[in-house]
Amino acid sequence: MKTYRIATIPGDGIGKEVIPAGRQVLESVAASETESKTAFRFEFEDFGWGGDYYRQHGVMMPEDGLNALRDKDAILFGSAGDPHIPDHITLWGLRLKICQGLDQYANVRPTRILPGIDAPLKRCRPEDLNWVIVRENTEGEYSGVGGRVHQGHPLEVATDLSIMTRAGVERIQRYAFRLAQSRPRKLLTVITKSNAQRHAMVMWDEIAAQVAKDFPDVTWDKELVDAATARMVNSPASLDTIVASNLHADILSDLAAALAGSLGIAPTGNINPERIYPSMFEPIHGSAFDIMGKGLANPVGTFWSVVMLLEHLGEFDAAQRVMSAIEFVTANPTLHTRDLGGTATTAQVTEAVCKQIAATSKASLTTA
Ligand code: ATP
Repeated sequence: MKTYRIATIPGDGIGKEVIPAGRQVLESVAASETESKTAFRFEFEDFGWGGDYYRQHGVMMPEDGLNALRDKDAILFGSAGDPHIPDHITLWGLRLKICQGLDQYANVRPTRILPGIDAPLKRCRPEDLNWVIVRENTEGEYSGVGGRVHQGHPLEVATDLSIMTRAGVERIQRYAFRLAQSRPRKLLTVITKSNAQRHAMVMWDEIAAQVAKDFPDVTWDKELVDAATARMVNSPASLDTIVASNLHADILSDLAAALAGSLGIAPTGNINPERIYPSMFEPIHGSAFDIMGKGLANPVGTFWSVVMLLEHLGEFDAAQRVMSAIEFVTANPTLHTRDLGGTATTAQVTEAVCKQIAATSKASLTTA
């Protein structure tokens, strides 16, 4: 039987609640396939990195931590953030270290309004909002290049340099065009700001036009990032696949998650498309210390990330069954967590999804 090696990194806050729930869903889907010829199993290794590790060791993860991840087939990540540790330490010390170290240059964020979710845009029908945002994940505005001098003095200077390389821009554009080509509408919007950012963003636009020539069946347009926010709200159906720089897509994808109903639902994949290194899947929400340990965390963002993980492994059938189970559960308001206006707990939602996966297993469908 095929075995997939999965690293789980719960991280901080509600990550410690949603990642065990995600693991339960992976175990359920594997268990529901055991009778079939295409059965598979998971071998998990859990890494206790994050804020607690930092308090003990002074670093968010060990120096050679990336080596422990390299041989895995995929990584399931919770969140990094701790109210007692500066954000730039928790972010750079763990999540970005993994994304950059494992060259996960494509951050992919699907957004849809799931059944039963009351999304804030009243004129938007669920079928009008079906986007995938592709975010450049290793350079641009978050390349980490910069510094501070004369700290605390009136002459203090601080810089964060946005680095865009032709290779980095071309590979993310190519990934986005390929993804757009694989979707029914074959429609791509390239987000830019080349009116104000007149060097790197102009190169970004030029490369998009060059790459587009290799994808004649993809319809594409350009949109300034500020105009894109209005377009997402006023004309959601005019968008499908969207590609943007690290900072621009960071902002647009939080807006997308809110427009789809809740931060607690949205998933993301940090992908190394060449599969030289493992890819990492995570809910987009943070550590949410305000609700930690109360059973209030919505695990759906993690479950949808599990769907992306299964698709990445090529287990499309299993991915589809988990997605259908998620949609079955979100359609039932008694199974909504508090962020969606309900009273269900993390455990109840997890149990309901696992039960639905078992109910739709090949074995149970053939005996029914
Ligand atoms: P971080 O500093 O790690 O980014 P944060 O608490 O500032 O974390 P988020 O966790 O992203 O930011 O979310 C903000 C708020 O949204 C949280 O305080 C929480 O109330 C709510 N929230 C986020 N994720 C979930 C979830 N999965 N389930 C329920 N509520 C959530």
